[in-house]
Amino acid sequence: MNKNRLLHLKDGKTNQNKKYVVYWMQQSQRVHYNHALNHAIKVANLYQLPLVCFFGLDDTYKDANERSYAFMLDGLKEVKEILTKLDITFVLRFGKPQEVVMDVLNDAQALIMDRAYLKIQRAWRKDLFHKLTDNEDLLIDMVDTDLIVPVHIASDKSEYGAYTIRPKIKRLYESFRDFKKLSIIDNKKLVDIISDDDLSNIDDLIQKMDIDHSVPKSSYYHGGYQAASHLFSTFIQEKSDHYPESSDPSTNYTSLMSMYLHFGQISSLELLERLYLALEQGQLKGETFDQYIEQLLIRRELAFNYVFYRQGYDVFETMTENWAYQSMNAHEFDHKDYLYDLETLESYQTHDIYFNAAMKQMVKTGYMHNYMRMYWAKKIIEWSPSFKKAYETTLYLNNKYFIDGRDPNSYAGVAWCFGKHDRAWTERKIFGKLRYMNDKGLERKFNIKQYVQDMDQL
Ligand SMILES: Cc1cc2nc3c(=O)[nH]c(=O)nc-3n(C[C@H](O)[C@H](O)[C@H](O)COP(=O)(O)OP(=O)(O)OC[C@H]3O[C@@H](n4cnc5c(N)ncnc54)[C@H](O)[C@@H]3O)c2cc1C
Repeated sequence: MNKNRLLHLKDGKTNQNKKYVVYWMQQSQRVHYNHALNHAIKVANLYQLPLVCFFGLDDTYKDANERSYAFMLDGLKEVKEILTKLDITFVLRFGKPQEVVMDVLNDAQALIMDRAYLKIQRAWRKDLFHKLTDNEDLLIDMVDTDLIVPVHIASDKSEYGAYTIRPKIKRLYESFRDFKKLSIIDNKKLVDIISDDDLSNIDDLIQKMDIDHSVPKSSYYHGGYQAASHLFSTFIQEKSDHYPESSDPSTNYTSLMSMYLHFGQISSLELLERLYLALEQGQLKGETFDQYIEQLLIRRELAFNYVFYRQGYDVFETMTENWAYQSMNAHEFDHKDYLYDLETLESYQTHDIYFNAAMKQMVKTGYMHNYMRMYWAKKIIEWSPSFKKAYETTLYLNNKYFIDGRDPNSYAGVAWCFGKHDRAWTERKIFGKLRYMNDKGLERKFNIKQYVQDMDQL
């Protein structure tokens, strides 16, 4: 592992009475290509102790609903099964992760955490760390395994756009192709710690949880590494030749990896390595490789740079650039032909068939094509009483319905519609200098009627 993935937070004194090492898995919910898990196994082997992998399931998490939790729990069930085969104990507890993990730390010699970048995720880790500073014996490490190039290594500041971060990441990423193979745990003793649920019946568990039950599980997408891996193989074998045409919403040529990446069920580094292999084996066009890397490596990691360095990434007043605020202020009171409330938008009852189709895709399936995400958000700007209201509505719907919602990409994607990581365009009514999109563009560029027909079938 490239040593820059590792943050050594605290030394620990060896104590013969300690019974195990803990890997607190929260962000990277997988076994494959998990540097944090691998590091935890190595630390456990150093002490010749068994390893406990801990997960905290919090039903008070903002925007927690049946859809996102069912997807996540499908993945965790697989993780548990694989870890058991690898002689690693999996423990699941209900509650705030940074609080309930404390219950298993008394007997732990070391704690390894995976790194995450949203404010709440950082606060959890910080909070836990502060509670543990007096624990003399406990070694604490944190490992970045969610990105190809860790945010603080790629850049030490908030990047202006893809064009400023691209050369930095391109210079560095080869040295982060650093996962060889998962180590084997020496001490194979399973540890006797009770879980709050054994994940044998996820539907039952979901029903018992105090989460939003109004957004049902997606019948289109199943969570977990196996599903992700299978979809990615299909992408390489059947879709990748067409990836350069994938911006047409009527096609289905993208990889659908965002929801799996969001829960850490598959690693972006694994995707990169599989692309390299496919390229070497003649299964992938160079053009597809370049375009996919631009999304996975540059755009995705730009979003992480954004949430890491911009504290106010989730607040209207602080999420975008000054030129955009000036322009929005100048157009705040422009006349609008249509104004829709949340209920009309959410029930896809507007006058715009393309918006309605996209909104329906989001509500019914938990996914929406990238181009339609842009169009959808731009229409909400056009039909809302203010830019602030439009921002809040867009983010609310994004994080409620998308399986990949509540992600750095969610905040960056929505902010992009308000000028972030974009540029100023020719001034026009309502939008000012923000980029404008209309139905004529969809009709000119794409087989958009086909998209509408497909969504009618949902
Ligand atoms: C208004 C708006 C809201 C968005 N909300 C989200 C969200 O909640 N969660 C989310 O993950 N993405 C979001 N995106 C980004 C993008 O739309 C999705 O990542 C993409 O559609 C996922 O589909 P895919 O995995 O099939 O993409 P592919 O084309 O197969 O791309 C592969 C991977 O590259 C990354 N990627 C692709 N497009 C982008 C992009 N435009 N920006 C950053 N990374 C990208 C994703 O990780 C994706 O899984 C949003 C974009 C906009 C404009």
